[in-house]
Amino acid sequence: MSTPALTIIGSVNLDLVASAEKLPVAGETVTGATFAQHPGGKGANQALAARRLGAEVSMIARTGEGPNRDAALALLRQDGVDLSGVVACPDEQTGVALIAVDKAGENQIVVASGANATLSPEDVNIEGHPDAILCQLEVPTACVMAALRAGSGLFAVNLAPAGPVPIELLEAADLLIVNEGEAAFYGEGLHRGGGMVALTLGAEGAVLYRAGKEVARAAAFAVPVIDTTGAGDTFCAALVLALAEGREEGEALCFASAASALAVTKAGAQPSLPWREDVEAFLREQD
Ligand code: ADP
Repeated sequence: MSTPALTIIGSVNLDLVASAEKLPVAGETVTGATFAQHPGGKGANQALAARRLGAEVSMIARTGEGPNRDAALALLRQDGVDLSGVVACPDEQTGVALIAVDKAGENQIVVASGANATLSPEDVNIEGHPDAILCQLEVPTACVMAALRAGSGLFAVNLAPAGPVPIELLEAADLLIVNEGEAAFYGEGLHRGGGMVALTLGAEGAVLYRAGKEVARAAAFAVPVIDTTGAGDTFCAALVLALAEGREEGEALCFASAASALAVTKAGAQPSLPWREDVEAFLREQD
């Protein structure tokens, strides 16, 4: 099986996480927190996941300049994602997510999209006829539409976070990926185009539809749950990669389910993204 080439158009963020006893109410200051910073953003998470699962990955995105850009791109660079399409904008900030977490794991998140919101259709230069294109909705929809028009290989969209999109996008995509909340937002519109729709159900697994009819279902693998951050992003990358490899639908769904199960067994988003060898070893153990 030759290595599939994927192009991912999406967000790059730096997650700044303060873990405290409790979350503040409006106007309150909570002290005594501990701080950590991690690279994030759905686009970057999915690019890194696809790379670790064995694809050649090119990313198209925008960041600011300076240390936040370097920190946000560090793992993508380390693992060999092609970042030549990630523009550094001197007048913009790298996207930042300010995350407060309390001791029960409840969180409050404020996202400052910064440079992500300025990504433009002119940035979407898709080179080399990739086997698949994967987008999410943390960058302007016009960029997702530009990627659709590039028309190379399997065109997949993770409709997250849910928001209004042109009907044409829902109808023309080869694969739409949604969780339960997003599925409720888009309703029957998801199935209008007759393509594939993958619905993720957290610990209940995932279902794949084609033209509105269920074609495959995967139960979630029973694993010790440490942190579900990154599970959805891993699922998207793994499913697109497996379909781009030409795997049959049920097998592709099972691969995505196994990869995302491994992502919940470790803390954090990018640090928890599994490698292909880990997924293959895990699947062998299940037999
Ligand atoms: P999102 O984070 O986007 O809401 P989900 O919570 O639906 O996505 O999770 C995506 C996929 O990750 C699921 O379809 C499942 O395969 C896997 N997954 C999520 N939670 C668990 C869990 N507790 N145990 C095993 N697999 C899980």
